[in-house]
Amino acid sequence: MITINDNLKGKTAVVTGGGGVLCGAMSMELARHGVKVAVLSRKEENAQEVVNEIKKDGGEAFALSCDVLEQASITKAAEAVKQQFPDGLDILINGAGGNHPDASTSEEYFMQEHLEDPDVKTFFDLTEEGLKHVFNLNYVGTVMATQEFMKQMVGRDNGIVINISSMSAPSPMTKVLSYSSAKAGIDNFTQWLAVHMAKENIRCNAIAPGFFLTSQNRALLLKEDGSHTARSGKIISQTPMERFGKPEDLLGTLLWLTDEKMSGFVTGITVPVDGGFMAYSGV
Ligand code: NAD
Repeated sequence: MITINDNLKGKTAVVTGGGGVLCGAMSMELARHGVKVAVLSRKEENAQEVVNEIKKDGGEAFALSCDVLEQASITKAAEAVKQQFPDGLDILINGAGGNHPDASTSEEYFMQEHLEDPDVKTFFDLTEEGLKHVFNLNYVGTVMATQEFMKQMVGRDNGIVINISSMSAPSPMTKVLSYSSAKAGIDNFTQWLAVHMAKENIRCNAIAPGFFLTSQNRALLLKEDGSHTARSGKIISQTPMERFGKPEDLLGTLLWLTDEKMSGFVTGITVPVDGGFMAYSGV
């Protein structure tokens, strides 16, 4: 466990997708360091589970439902946050995200004969609806949530936005087209926002997790008996540290980026937390 100091004590945070595995762990860690956390999730009951854990450990948190694909839902959540945090917001974590098969091809490489095979989903089969859903969830949802919640940081000469990128941003993973494009957009947005908000002293950075076993990818990475699928075998072989990430691997980077005393001059970067995946050329 990371040693607690008082640097974040009394700060306020909003975490979208806070009912999920990675951002649930981030919510709990912020609360352990004395941050008051608004845990937001599309399904309020998932956020409430995280809040219950936080409260059990003596932390302060509350749960809200917030669908980042719906402007009205974000606005409603922002109003509720304003009531709970009347002095303003210090930290926003944009964690809501994920992939969907409708925005991915079924094969890594296209072959002409796939056109005749009804079981193969090619690039040409991807639908507007599927592509837009995943792009909007990961990119537009992050931008819209930032527009709404960051208003509560303006005028306070302080604020931190943390976006969640992916190893699919710097160089896209096979199959997952829309997710990769959206996460690349997240890295670009992180830089754009860091520049745009610099005079307000609102810093914006991103964390790019490598491969972490969570609910959204468990079936892709593990067989029913717990052994690696072909895809996860490939991932581990490209990860010099030879393992998947654990949610707690992200927490030191989270605390560093949220702590003004430690990273007050750091803005516009994406930090890989990936066991060396990005550095490895494969040979
Ligand atoms: P997760 O599925 O446990 O968490 C994702 C959360 O986003 C869930 O709580 C889900 O309900 C929420 N969400 C989905 N659609 C939403 C919507 N429309 N509005 C609001 N919330 C919505 O998965 P996770 O792995 O903890 O993912 C957290 C973030 O980390 C995501 O942005 C994901 O893309 C990113 N990420 C994960 C990995 C990994 O290996 N697990 C790697 C890189 C990046």
